[in-house]
Amino acid sequence: ARKKLSKLKKTPAVTKDGTAITLLANIELPDDCGPALEAGANGVGLFRSEFLFMGRASDMPSEDEQFEQYRRAVVAMKGRPVTIRTLDIGADKPLDTTEHTALNPALGLRAIRYCLSEPQIFLTQLRAILRASAFGKLRILIPMLAHSHEIDQSLAMIELAKAELREANIKYDPGVDVGAMIEIPAAALALPMFVRKMKFLSIGTNDLIQYTLAIDRVDYEVAHLYNPLHPAVLQLISMTIAAGHKAGIDVAVCGEMAGDVKLTRLLLGMGLRDFSMHPAQLLSVKQEILNTDLARILPHTRKILRSMDPDVIADAV
Ligand code: PEP
Ligand code: MG
Repeated sequence: ARKKLSKLKKTPAVTKDGTAITLLANIELPDDCGPALEAGANGVGLFRSEFLFMGRASDMPSEDEQFEQYRRAVVAMKGRPVTIRTLDIGADKPLDTTEHTALNPALGLRAIRYCLSEPQIFLTQLRAILRASAFGKLRILIPMLAHSHEIDQSLAMIELAKAELREANIKYDPGVDVGAMIEIPAAALALPMFVRKMKFLSIGTNDLIQYTLAIDRVDYEVAHLYNPLHPAVLQLISMTIAAGHKAGIDVAVCGEMAGDVKLTRLLLGMGLRDFSMHPAQLLSVKQEILNTDLARILPHTRKILRSMDPDVIADAV
């Protein structure tokens, strides 16, 4: 089966009835671009930049070091878009394992909350990312947004980083798109706030499930309750896809759900056109897309989205 899958590397991901799908890779370091290209990825949908920082609390990567890593990824992808997520530190991705731990770290000072409370760290990263944008197609993705002022402050910080680069005569792409991760239920329930100010959305289902169901994503004692097919989770995903497309902006899923072939048809039926996943899952998902007739699965999708019975949903999937 492996060998047959590898034949699909250059085949465009198009459904049986002709809808083109974008398949993107999730990466942790620039070296992961090799496997991403090898799997035929159309770009990077999620560069988890925190992997450059983890375990380095007293030795944060400098602007130049970060720039070099982001530039490497952008160059490696040869003109395909690279979506760099700004620092998503905290909770399951600690900066330092010895740091003070909050009682509920997943609800604490993580991701964009951390970055806005540490403006120098955030600005340093934004300058490094913007500098890399001069070397290829780059997009900026902001994690864990929930509040309108967080959107505004993030965009203002990006403008400030641009102004600093202009001041120093350093090149960047002025047209870099900025997008939001939708991974907090409040964000999925306040989409007009996001589609007005953001150029694209990316649904982080790993956290969206955690926060919707109040299930710690790393606590094995409640792992059996972590259900991507809970009707509430499906509603939030479906609403996000619909609101983004209605506003004319791209919506991706970059959580684990995007790489689960059992869920490919459901996500396609919900209108998803951009999938971002670990490179190892990409060709299997592509095969599933090639075998899917969208028109035929739509009635099933509607039935699933109407159902509040987990067994009916699981069976239909
Ligand atoms: C997510 O939350 O679904 C996601 C893609 O980000 P991470 O797993 O890095 O939190
Ligand atoms: Mg997340």
